[in-house]
Amino acid sequence: MIDIKNLTIEKAGEMMKKGELTSVDLVSACLKNIEERNKELNIFLEVFDDVLEQAKYADEIIKAGKGTKLTGIPLAIKDNILITGRKVSSGSKMLENYVASYDAFVIKKLKEAGAVLIGRTNMDEFAMGSSTENSTYGPTKNPIDPSRVPGGSSGGSAAAVASGMALGALGSDTGGSIRQPASFCGLVGMKSTYGAVSRSGLTAMSSSFDQIGPFAKTSEDAKIIFNCIIGKDDMDSTSADLNSFPALKAERKIIGIPRDFLKEGVDQEILKNFEETLDKLKKKGYKVKDVIMPYLKYSLPVYYIIMPAEVSTNLSRLDGVRYGLRKEGENVFDTFKKSRSAGFGPETKRRIILGTYVLSHGYYDAYYNKAWKVRRAIMKEYENIFQDVDLIMTPTAPTTAFKFGEKKDPLQMYLEDIFTVSANLTGLPAISIPSGKSSSSLPIGIQFIGSLFSDESLFAIEKDLRDNK
Ligand code: GLN
Repeated sequence: MIDIKNLTIEKAGEMMKKGELTSVDLVSACLKNIEERNKELNIFLEVFDDVLEQAKYADEIIKAGKGTKLTGIPLAIKDNILITGRKVSSGSKMLENYVASYDAFVIKKLKEAGAVLIGRTNMDEFAMGSSTENSTYGPTKNPIDPSRVPGGSSGGSAAAVASGMALGALGSDTGGSIRQPASFCGLVGMKSTYGAVSRSGLTAMSSSFDQIGPFAKTSEDAKIIFNCIIGKDDMDSTSADLNSFPALKAERKIIGIPRDFLKEGVDQEILKNFEETLDKLKKKGYKVKDVIMPYLKYSLPVYYIIMPAEVSTNLSRLDGVRYGLRKEGENVFDTFKKSRSAGFGPETKRRIILGTYVLSHGYYDAYYNKAWKVRRAIMKEYENIFQDVDLIMTPTAPTTAFKFGEKKDPLQMYLEDIFTVSANLTGLPAISIPSGKSSSSLPIGIQFIGSLFSDESLFAIEKDLRDNK
């Protein structure tokens, strides 16, 4: 049987090209792993009924010599990305029976490349959370230690790759939802420069932050998926063609460390691993410089003002009339109230209330406008820092995968995002790469943030680090 857990997309592609392996073999191996562990781990909300047909078709394309690097490769898709004719619930009861009427831009691209779409993966409701415990459909378990969370909100997609149920996956990242689960599951996870990947067909959480991106075992694999899904799309006016920006210098080896920002609330083991990783990179020729970024510490509070504001606006259409679950009331407002009360979970309600509050007359200036001013200051701060250094390095998350129920207080959960949100606030590209294991054998991730449109260069670091092991 094929060992999907240790097979890369690159290798599988080469083997298929040489005729040593078929997509049907690959998909069958994934389905076997799903059969064995999906009940226990709750990774896929749905496995598509046509996966073997997709694989057979891909095999024909490969045989005809017309395959791409993704032809026949089984990929898992987060449940907030639209696939024509398939349910897409965003982990919510509100959209339990919603069926997509068109393909997301990224899905169109994957289909054109001949990838096999295995199924839709579990997630925190409307992508709000850092543990996948906020899904209406129950939490997903971390395949490495099922007593722990896989991270979130794209926990299902990360767990699918880590458990050998798919060779790669798509997630979405609004404040870290690709990078943090990648670090909890020992994978590479990448969020592009805002606009590099179209948001058309992604169920919106917070539109000025959201980006779709890849999960994979290696940076080479992540890059294969990334190169397939990027591109200018007329359906998303914020999308841009990465290739139309002047080529950035290939060598990006000066790393900036915002030391002041790394002190509080970070596990000792994470800090130790961070220093060890730095040493390895120095040996590989990277230069390290301490940087002072006084505004960075405001990233989390700014994120938790602007994000809920956008969430409350984006989710207002889910009212039982225009979209979503309907609970009949005495009049139209009563129907709204009953439908939204029944359809949304507690975290979603909390953020809608918070967002409505910060946008309300009288508080708009004090919170929302002020947050935007600080957001711009953080952007400027990064812009200035990138005159001196090429990359900013931080841990991906302050902890390794935690136990279920460990973070009961919402604020404690929000602190998980401390290192990841600034990339979304600024639109900068960022990657999480595996950097070793804790004493209890849990994966640790390290994050690199690059300047706008330097996406390509982020992939190279993982290889440098891997070659060093
Ligand atoms: N954990 C963050 C939040 O709950 C990020 C979510 C995301 O990136 N979708 O907002």
